[in-house]
Order: sequence, then structure tokens, then C-alpha cells
Amino acid sequence: MDTKFIDIEENIKRIREKIAEAAVRSGRSEKDVRFMAVTKTVAPEYINHAIAQGIDLIGENKVQEFLEKRDSLNLQSVEKHLIGHLQSNKVRKIITEVDMIQSVDSVSLAKEIERQAEKHNMTANVLLEINVGGEESKTGMDKALFEDSFFQIAEMKHIAIKGLMTIPPICDNNSELAKFFEQMHQLFIDIRAKNIDNVSMDILSMGMSGDFEQAILCGSNLVRVGSSIFGARIYK
Ligand SMILES: *Cc1c(COP(=O)(O)O)cnc(C)c1O
Repeated sequence: MDTKFIDIEENIKRIREKIAEAAVRSGRSEKDVRFMAVTKTVAPEYINHAIAQGIDLIGENKVQEFLEKRDSLNLQSVEKHLIGHLQSNKVRKIITEVDMIQSVDSVSLAKEIERQAEKHNMTANVLLEINVGGEESKTGMDKALFEDSFFQIAEMKHIAIKGLMTIPPICDNNSELAKFFEQMHQLFIDIRAKNIDNVSMDILSMGMSGDFEQAILCGSNLVRVGSSIFGARIYK
């Protein structure tokens, strides 16, 4: 047997324990934090093995890659989220295929999602992606411009804003990283307190393989874990 299958089982078990531990340390319980398996570059047989271990939420970065793999996946009871940068011209290909788009990073992208969602007579669930570190190289909305974009998107009738997502900058130490996570948590709480129509601030998506425990301690309730489950990614 391919030992990678055993590794995946053990990794998922170990990560679940760590999630549970961090959730309890942050005054919550394991079920308050969703565990997403990030499946970019991962072959369907391994993704299906993760699903067989109880994974019920997967994240893919690229529209094309997801559409190619989708038919080989056992997705009957699995939620699918797009987490990578989405170009407006690809919205129509993916909008009916995923349960959520976590990577809405501009009003213009939201406008195209609104247009396509209306066409399909559906509501698109989205998270707004924030560039919390203000890095040039990263996608995500600028913190300073965020509020204005947020209100524009909240007006769109076929979009339901469900929360926020971020990828923090690479930090030298945990306290620097915690600052970014805490800023996001504060933003999340502040918006939730506004009780805006069409907006339910339920999801704060932050934390990846290297920092999910820290993210949970700072209030994350959805962690996106790839390489710690499936091993280092091999890009072709
Ligand atoms: C790849 C990716 C992840 C997972 O990263 P790992 O470090 O492998 O856990 C999470 N979120 C996004 C947006 C990603 O692109």
C-alpha cells in the first residue's frame, strides 16, 4: 500500500487533535472550528482518502484544476470552496460549482459574481479577502479601502457575505503574527456588530499549516490546511 495513504490518515488525526486543543484554549470547542483540507495540486485518490477520514470541506485555488478533478472526487457530502485568486472572466465557470468563494478581493469581481448569480437565479456565498499586512505582492482588499468596498458588495442582491478571509504576511515571530490575526478578529467583530442586511459574519477564515493553532487562539473558526495533510506540494 502507498504509505502516503497512511500518512494522510495520521496527519488528519494529529491536526484534529491540535485544532481541538487550540479551540479549547480559546474558550471554544472542537466543533466551533471548521477544518478545511486544501487540495490544490493533490491527486484525486488522496483527496478521496481524506474525505474517507471524515473531511467534509475542501478548498481549491484554481478554477480549471478543480473542474478537471471534480468528477473523480467523492463529493456527495463535501462542501467545496474556492480559495485562490479569481479572475472575473472565470466566474461564470465556477459560480454554480462551489458552495462558497472565499477570495472576493474587489468590488469589480463582486459585480461579476452578482451578474452571474442573478443569471442563475441563485445567491452566491462569499468571504471578503483582506490583505491584512498591506503587502504589494498579495491579493485581498486593502484595510483602508475595505469598508467602502464592503458596503458596496453588501448591497448586491445575489451575494451573501458570510465573513472574512486572510493570508497574513510571513512573520519572524508569533507575536507579530498574532497581531495580524487579532486585527482580523477585531474587524470581524466590528462588522458583525453593525448587523447589516444581507451580511452574516459567521466565518473568519484564517490559519494554514504553519499557523492554524495561532489563528484559532486569535479567533479563527475555519482553518485551511494543505501541506500538513498531504505533504509538500509538487507543482507541475
Ligand atoms: C495553499 C493555500 C492554503 C494551504 O496552505 P498550507 O500551508 O499548505 O497549509 C491555505 N489557504 C490558501 C488561500 C492557499 O492558497
